[in-house]
Amino acid sequence: MMELTALKGVGPKTLKVLEKLGIDSYNALLTYYPYRFDVIERSNIKLLKQDDHIVIDGVIENVPNVTFFKRKMNRMTFRLNTGENIYNVVIFNRAFLKNNLKIGMRITIIGKYDKIKTTIVASDIKLYPLPPKPLIEPVYHVVSGISSSQLNKIITNALDHMEDIDDYVPEYLVERYHLGDKVTSIKEVHHPHTKETLNRAINYLKYEELFLFMLKMNYLKSKRDQVLGLQRDVKREDVDKFMATLPFKLTPDQLKCVDAIYTDLTTPKRMNRLVQGDVGSGKTIVAVIALYINYLSHYQGALMAPTEILASQHYDNLKNLFANTGIKVEILTGKLKVSEKKAIYKRLLNNEIDILIGTHALFSDDVIYHNLGLVITDEQHRFGVNQRSSLKNKGNTPDILYLSATPIPRTYAIVLYGDMDISSIHTMPSGRKETITLLKKDSEIKDVLDLMYQELKSHHQIYVIAPTIEESDTSDLENVSALKDKMDRAFGKICKSAILHGKMSSKEKEEVMRQYQDNEISILISTTVIEVGVDVKNATMMVIFDSYRFGLSQLHQLRGRVGRNDLQSYCVLISNHEEKRLEILTQTTDGFKVSEEDFKLRGSGDLFGTRQSGDMNFNLANLKQDFNILLRAREDSQEILDNPLFIKGDKYPRLREILDKSVNMS
Ligand code: ADP
Ligand code: MG
Repeated sequence: MMELTALKGVGPKTLKVLEKLGIDSYNALLTYYPYRFDVIERSNIKLLKQDDHIVIDGVIENVPNVTFFKRKMNRMTFRLNTGENIYNVVIFNRAFLKNNLKIGMRITIIGKYDKIKTTIVASDIKLYPLPPKPLIEPVYHVVSGISSSQLNKIITNALDHMEDIDDYVPEYLVERYHLGDKVTSIKEVHHPHTKETLNRAINYLKYEELFLFMLKMNYLKSKRDQVLGLQRDVKREDVDKFMATLPFKLTPDQLKCVDAIYTDLTTPKRMNRLVQGDVGSGKTIVAVIALYINYLSHYQGALMAPTEILASQHYDNLKNLFANTGIKVEILTGKLKVSEKKAIYKRLLNNEIDILIGTHALFSDDVIYHNLGLVITDEQHRFGVNQRSSLKNKGNTPDILYLSATPIPRTYAIVLYGDMDISSIHTMPSGRKETITLLKKDSEIKDVLDLMYQELKSHHQIYVIAPTIEESDTSDLENVSALKDKMDRAFGKICKSAILHGKMSSKEKEEVMRQYQDNEISILISTTVIEVGVDVKNATMMVIFDSYRFGLSQLHQLRGRVGRNDLQSYCVLISNHEEKRLEILTQTTDGFKVSEEDFKLRGSGDLFGTRQSGDMNFNLANLKQDFNILLRAREDSQEILDNPLFIKGDKYPRLREILDKSVNMS
């Protein structure tokens, strides 16, 4: 396989930029597909209505005029003569193009047509006239340092050297769906000829992605169904007795989860179950009961959390809940001294620890269990497949329980999590007030500050979220350090604030979180690092700046940090962009609904994040749009798995290889 540096135009600098895009090999470059295709085709002006999309070409009439505003924004205007009409063209933040736009030059404008003012608000300018035939232009996601067309040039170069590439769709399926071939398809998506040929190519590549995905999924499921697990002998009444000691009664959905888990654990099949439910829906207690059942059958349990903060929250919580049981709970985190760790390893091996809680430190090689029977991973999508697997392999065949706070509707879940059983918690514990979500513009900040003031006066705490850490030249987004100043100016007299972000050391982060937890700090200003599982009951308000920058599911996750007790909580989404989608959050607090909407709007969207990304990184396929292809791929992949030729193994060696790899990883 060719090296990237062997390509013309790829030096060390470009290599770095490509790396940022996740392109680290020749293969990755070829399969870095455009995320959009712009069809550049002359519009029929007569048919256009106000605000319609427009593509026309014409001659530049005057020297473009540029004005700067806000800090880093600019606006350029000039007149364009199409021979039939003269249009005012307005384009934002392209001042750098000014010197290329010479009077008399024929260029192409793409944008929105303001018929009344004969103005075009351009989204793009091409420095060439419209070609006679429609032009289909691939558009790639890029970062600074490379443009979409530069990337296309590099790919073009690579395509010239493309000899052969592994294709995975069996021939009979290619024929069944008239899919064409892979080499042609890859060339076509980077250099589309016509809409028809492009669609055909996209079809091939999407089908292949989804086919492989479903093949792996179905294979894992069939493997898993064959595996026998531990069969425990635990009386249900003993479980019920323990549940009666809990500080609250379980909700009906929680009870259903417990029933399912009890059945899983007391029958021979190995448990591989996902419990999904919104933040705050009470998944932890379900995990606690599972650990209790496991304990009653004399096995050790492990509970793995994605962060140290969460691990120690679980530790405190479990110690309390198990206080009268004699269960020995221990926590293992990265920050323990070597001697402390060694002591834990020893006691673990000697069966002197019943439940071990921790972060990924739980699966370092030194950790050897006496008899691990149950592994629970909290916020499972945070873990890499490899991390999960090393823990799973620590026991004989320990039962596995995943907890996910990114719930998705059942129709999708049975496909995406096809290799697991699924339990869903839909209802929140009673006594919880629904968080009130408000949508505000920058100009309404005073209302927001007023509301913040009210909450602070009641000694409640507030989260303030911004998309970036520091001010930068390239973005106009709100940032954590600027907000800290603003908050201190507004509230410095009555309360303390602190910042939290990913660039701080974990020690610093923990200290801040501890102070917030102990209510020494009233306002926590943060990036999205607080997204996961943090539980500060006294926090009743969250303010999210530039909220249009976030996905719906992500905003919903963030919002879940508040509304964790019987106080009325608020979430304020600040955005100057007209975003219908954000309104959904003002209308519902049901995570299943939010993810469904997210799914509709953005296709895969954040759902990709719900499974470990490596499992589900589709380059082209979009789960929502292509759901039908996915369903077909599901059947086709099952068909091949049921095929005796496949089972024997020599007919589809490449597929076998992929599957063997995926089994080792899961
Ligand atoms: P998550 O699903 O986000 O992990 P938790 O398990 O942390 O949610 O639960 C959130 C809060 O709700 C915790 O303080 C927990 O003690 C409480 N809780 C859980 N179940 C119930 C219930 N059935 N009744 C009352 N409170 C509950
Ligand atoms: Mg939780």
